[in-house]
This record gives sequence, C-alpha cells and structure tokens, in this order.
Amino acid sequence: MYDLAILGGGPAGVAAGVYASRKRLKTIFITDSWGGQSVVSEGIENWIGTIKIPGTGLAENLKKHLEAYAGDIVTIREGEKIITVAKKDGGFVVKTDTGEYEAKTVLVTTGSHRRKLDIRGAEQYENKGITYCASCDGPLFSGQDVVVIGGGNAGFETAAQLLAYTKSVTLLNRGTEFRADPVTVSKVLSHPNMKSIMNAIPVEIKGDSFVKSIVYEDASSKDRIEIYATGIFVEIGLLPSTEFVKDVVELNQYNQIITDPRTQATKTEGIWAAGDVTDTLYHQNNIAAGDAVRALEDIYIHLHAK
Ligand SMILES: Cc1cc2nc3c(=O)[nH]c(=O)nc-3n(C[C@H](O)[C@H](O)[C@H](O)COP(=O)(O)OP(=O)(O)OC[C@H]3O[C@@H](n4cnc5c(N)ncnc54)[C@H](O)[C@@H]3O)c2cc1C
Repeated sequence: MYDLAILGGGPAGVAAGVYASRKRLKTIFITDSWGGQSVVSEGIENWIGTIKIPGTGLAENLKKHLEAYAGDIVTIREGEKIITVAKKDGGFVVKTDTGEYEAKTVLVTTGSHRRKLDIRGAEQYENKGITYCASCDGPLFSGQDVVVIGGGNAGFETAAQLLAYTKSVTLLNRGTEFRADPVTVSKVLSHPNMKSIMNAIPVEIKGDSFVKSIVYEDASSKDRIEIYATGIFVEIGLLPSTEFVKDVVELNQYNQIITDPRTQATKTEGIWAAGDVTDTLYHQNNIAAGDAVRALEDIYIHLHAK
C-alpha cells in the first residue's frame, strides 16, 4: 500500500509530488496529462521565478521537475484517467481506466475543466466553428470574423490571441461589468479590430455545415440580435473535476471540495485537496502549488503521528 496517492498533474499535483519525494513518502502519482489548465496559454507571466513561459513549456518543466526527483519514491502513472476513489481497509483504493492503487492517504489536485455552452446549436456545431481553445484552433480562423463568449480573464486572453490574425473579434459579456482584470480589459479593447457587447445573452448558434452566426438576447431590451461570425470561442467558466470523488468527500454547491484553509484537509480523514478543485476563493498557478505544499506538510504529520 502506498503512503499517498496524488491525483492530477497540474501545478498543485507536481508541487505535492516533489515534496512527497523529499519527505520520502511512498507515493503513486496519477494524471491523464501534464501541466493543467494553463497549458493552452501562449505566455504565462506570473509563474514566480520565470519571466514568461508558454503553457506547454510550463507543462514540460513540471514533468521534468517531478521526474528528476521521483527516484524510487514516487511512481508516476501518466495517461491514466481516474474513475473512482473509495475507502478500503483503513485507506483508499483509486481506480483508473487501466489500474487500481491502494494508498493510506489521498491528495486530490484534479483542478477544473471548461464549462460547455448549452444553447441551441451548440452541440451540433462543436468543432464546426465552436471551439474551447484559441491557441489550438485560433489560426484556422485567420482573416475571419469571430466571437468570444465570456468577459473573464480567459475570455480576454482568448480575444488578445485571436486579434493577432483574425479580421475582427466581438466579445459577448452577460453582465454589465467585465470580470477580467481592468488592465487586460483596457489593453485588449484598445485594439481597432476589437469590439465588446455588454448584457448579451447567447441564445442560438446558426449555420449549415459550419457556424455562420450567433444570436444573442439583449438582457435589457430583450431584442434578439444576430452577429455573423465563422468562429465562436467559448470561455464561460470552469467546472471542478470532482465527479470521481463525490462519494467520499464533501462538496459545496459548485462541486468544489470543501477544505480547511489552514491544512487543505477535507472533512474525510485521510483525504486532502489543493488547487482549483477546492473551495478556496482564488485560483492561480502559484496558489495551487502553495496549497499543495501546505497539504503535503499536513499529510506528512498525519502519517507520522500514527
Ligand atoms: C486559459 C487559462 C489561462 C490561465 N493563465 C494563468 C496564468 O497566466 N497565471 C496563473 O497563475 N494562472 C492561470 N490560469 C489558472 C491556472 O491555470 C490554474 O489556477 C491552475 O492550473 C490550477 O492548478 P491545479 O493543479 O489546481 O489544477 P489543473 O491545472 O486543472 O490541473 C489538474 C490536473 O489533473 C488532471 N486531471 C483532471 N481530472 C483527472 C482525472 N479524472 N484523471 C486523471 N487526471 C485528471 C488534469 O489533466 C490536470 O493535469 C489560467 C487558466 C486558464 C484556463
């Protein structure tokens, strides 16, 4: 039986893995991929100690860092999807799509995934003009008119990337204020090919074999307005990846894992959680890594107090 199972290979999971190795906790580290959510970012400028790095570079560095110190202490299982976590014989059993692992303690760092657009035509046109990744699909829309849905940081970051090669970008924001940082908002909106529409509630995507337009409702006037665009980039928030653990830990109304902010312990003895998967107020790479280190300190004390 392992001392610890670390679930997820983003900044939180990797930080925990490096510390687990230093503390000589026999660990199973499971992730379906490396780097976490900001892997799609063109440039991360606030990963402390690194002036700027693309998301793919950060993922590579995280992987290399853990591999460099894993030795015979941390067993890395990459490319495996975690399906369930259940209690077993004073510990836990983690089932993945290809294996089963027993551990005395579990640290959940599986972060979040994108919320899908749920309006008429959204399913029909996914990957036929509707996309969730500007850095992956953006160049396909070179010289075209595109729409970004969502006025948070991710929406503005997406718009900024698209402005480099599209003809125009229109950003639809549901409310009367943007959630993105004011500095980013003013920088992106100052671009001549950029436009934003407030109070805009998307209602339908139209097209033939590919997207041709999006219809939104003006929240004040209730008018329905159609915008012609061949690409729709969706950035409407994130959902915590907690489905596989919902029967063993307490979740809040947003399906985030409830943790003690001093220790990252959940209400279930033997399970901790860190990073975007938790109910902490702020979610960033540095925060996720720091939270995971705090969790590791507490897990170490827990295992050695026994
Ligand atoms: C587009 C974008 C840009 C961002 N830019 C920045 C930025 O510039 N600076 C910043 O500080 N923050 C940024 N963030 C936020 C930052 O990415 C997150 O706060 C951070 O990634 C959280 O780390 P985490 O380790 O908690 O979770 P995540 O990064 O979400 O990592 C979770 C890991 O768990 C794995 N996983 C999930 N479910 C399973 C499963 N069932 N089985 C196996 N593995 C699983 C995932 O593959 C992933 O490796 C950005 C976020 C987005 C979406």
